[in-house]
Amino acid sequence: MADNVNALPFFYGNITREDAEDYLRQGGMGDGMYLLRQSRSYLGGYALSVAYRRECYHYTIERELNETYAIVGGKSHRTPVDVIDYHSQKGEGLVCLLKMPYNRPKGMQPKVGPFEDLKEKLIREYVKKTWNLQGAALEQAIISQRPQLEKLVATTAHEKMPWFHHTITREDSESRLQMGSRTNGKFLIRQRDLNGSYALCLLHGSQVMHYRIDKDKAGKLSIPDGKKFDTLWQLVEHYSYKPDGLLRVLTDACPRPEGDHFGGIGRAGYNNLLEAAGGMLTRIKSYSIPIPGRKKGRGASHSKTTDNLNPYDTRVPNNMVSKESMPMDTEVYESPYADPDELRTSTVDRKQLFLEDGELGSGNFGTVMKGIYKMRKTEKPVAVKILKNDDNNPAVKEEMLREANVMQQLDNPYIVRMIGICEAESLMLVMELAELGPLHKYLQRHKQISIKNITELVHQVSMGMKYLEEHNFVHRDLAARNVLLVTQHYAKISDFGLSKALTEEENYYKAKGHGKWPVKWYAPECMNYFKFSCKSDVWSFGVLMWEAYTLGMKPYKGMKGNEVIQMIENGERMDIPPNCPAEMYDLMKKCWTYKADERPGFAVVEPRLRDYYYDISSQ
Ligand code: AMP
Repeated sequence: MADNVNALPFFYGNITREDAEDYLRQGGMGDGMYLLRQSRSYLGGYALSVAYRRECYHYTIERELNETYAIVGGKSHRTPVDVIDYHSQKGEGLVCLLKMPYNRPKGMQPKVGPFEDLKEKLIREYVKKTWNLQGAALEQAIISQRPQLEKLVATTAHEKMPWFHHTITREDSESRLQMGSRTNGKFLIRQRDLNGSYALCLLHGSQVMHYRIDKDKAGKLSIPDGKKFDTLWQLVEHYSYKPDGLLRVLTDACPRPEGDHFGGIGRAGYNNLLEAAGGMLTRIKSYSIPIPGRKKGRGASHSKTTDNLNPYDTRVPNNMVSKESMPMDTEVYESPYADPDELRTSTVDRKQLFLEDGELGSGNFGTVMKGIYKMRKTEKPVAVKILKNDDNNPAVKEEMLREANVMQQLDNPYIVRMIGICEAESLMLVMELAELGPLHKYLQRHKQISIKNITELVHQVSMGMKYLEEHNFVHRDLAARNVLLVTQHYAKISDFGLSKALTEEENYYKAKGHGKWPVKWYAPECMNYFKFSCKSDVWSFGVLMWEAYTLGMKPYKGMKGNEVIQMIENGERMDIPPNCPAEMYDLMKKCWTYKADERPGFAVVEPRLRDYYYDISSQ
């Protein structure tokens, strides 16, 4: 069943309850006739309008905390459509069984709410201001975190509304409403305190009525005994078409006096955002340790806009990064050299590098240790790949330098960046630290992780791969073991030991012979013709997806390399992982298209993942 509610013919979007009744009347009001609309009070929620014995009944379908949907108090389902399917079979609390959808009249699209138009602008402004991002970094942040950003921005959209007058006094609100036109129903909202208490001030006759708006424990806003809303703009929208207990409906927004604005999402907005995220979002500069005596933050340009706005600069160590943090909250979202005050260099001075006890891991070259790199302004924890000293084989050193050379050319939030090479007691490759380690191991340890979280991470990997594709690099070792986690919500592609830069003329790399290859991740053309392209990386990405949705299982378990090759040649593919969404298995199978020419590229795979991720996150 479609996850995309917008595409359902019986979904009407942001229409009122009365509009819904009109439509059902047009449809004849047969018993069990129904339509679905967007909830105007609950973010991400829906309302089901049902006809029975010439009356209309309306039920809220709430989006629950664990991303499931239910008619309040009823059984939970994966999507709103599943709720409808269920109630087509079982009445259970509804006035009757759902029998027949009433589809939108021909040519009518679901109605878009007033907030939708503003949303894009607000998101951009929010990301720019909060993380001081621009250009590609800004775009990538919005693409990868849109569902989260939409939620955050939705709860602060009122700050942009002309009727929101911040923390003015009751007396000020009265004089503002009495100024200029005195239309009945002229209104404004003022903030009473920082705990989510507001007042709706409404001009009626020559009097100003003040209605208190309080926030309950679940964060819902309401006038005493009134309908509950997630946001102030939904409350205003509701009382603009229906008095519902007020003396009258709201008509004209009383505009804020000129000059009285907070320049977009201001300090109060920021607090609200944090509050709105249920206190889960902590503004983290994840593991930047300021050098004593030096100015904190990443430099004048960054601290100018964020630090003085932000009272939450708590500098939580990376391993304590809050579950709901976004990639942009960490220090590794942008390159350390994005700060113009830090010298861009490909060599790291040994005196500035401090190795710590304890290994992060080990690979072909030797060990990977944690360390601290003292930069001009900050100290950064780093991962240091150290070449084994007993390895006198110059080929290994060359290989490591080749890896460094590739990494140096890449700069993307979803790829582990190289900070520099350090030649000292050993050859060392200094990289950004992704402390939570390889994806497959993390998933094996955290089996409770949600499908949405897995999809978020896999989508980020596809974003990194799309970047590689656009820049003509083949990875050649894409697998869950080579995706490292910075936080539970932030993945980076690593290990460029086998990677190659392609030339303009040739969009593939031809290996000279068969090496020690990760056969189970390789496309048929790699095995048969030693041919590697972005399309063969797509094949590996399909296997990586399978690893992710199986929570870190070994692909083709128990099978030998040549058995796997035979299986693929016979047209067989791995089965759908348990609990894996059908849409994602379908995408895996597309990645395992036999012929490279017919296989989608990352330019196709990434938006498919993106759409699915948005669908399950923002319904
Ligand atoms: P590699 O030689 O690149 O396969 O790295 C071996 C292991 O070292 C990985 O599986 C990780 O556990 C760890 N490691 C490598 N790079 C990093 C990094 N940038 N941050 C944290 N751990 C890393």
